[in-house]
Amino acid sequence: MEFTFVSGNLGLDFVGTVAARRERRVDLLAEPADLARWTVAAGLLDAAPPVPAGALAAGVGLREAIHRLATAAVAGAPLAAADREVLNRAAAPAPPAVRLDADGLARTGDLTAALAAVARSAADLLGGPDAARVRECAAPLCTRLFVDASRKGERRWCDMRRCGNRAKAAAFRERRR
Ligand SMILES: [Zn+2]
Repeated sequence: MEFTFVSGNLGLDFVGTVAARRERRVDLLAEPADLARWTVAAGLLDAAPPVPAGALAAGVGLREAIHRLATAAVAGAPLAAADREVLNRAAAPAPPAVRLDADGLARTGDLTAALAAVARSAADLLGGPDAARVRECAAPLCTRLFVDASRKGERRWCDMRRCGNRAKAAAFRERRR
């Protein structure tokens, strides 16, 4: 399964590296190399950074803390102190360095820097006005979280092309029966 970036927020896209959390859970960050690959796919770094021992577990710990904080935001529940602490610790280091070269953008840094950018993005979201716009995809199996940036605030699916169309096709089949 490929990484997807449909959530409108880097922190929520990171949470989305676990697909179908409730029933057919698939963790796309199975190995340290997966985490390194994700930081490049996310546009944070130009080259996959080394992943030191224990860094995958720490990254997954950050991901799950963001997941709990974001689902609390969806439910309008308070944000757990322990999860905020995990987020804040990850957000503290400097994010990747960005430089505009003659031949384009250069983004450099290590895994800690990349995860700092992820944590900052999640903190910006959950501490700001858009926290009220975090939603979970309405498709039955999909558990992806996203920021609803639609004017009316009625976006239901993480990705119209995938979950949205699938839901519409299912409704069509239902009507024909
Ligand atoms: Zn979905």
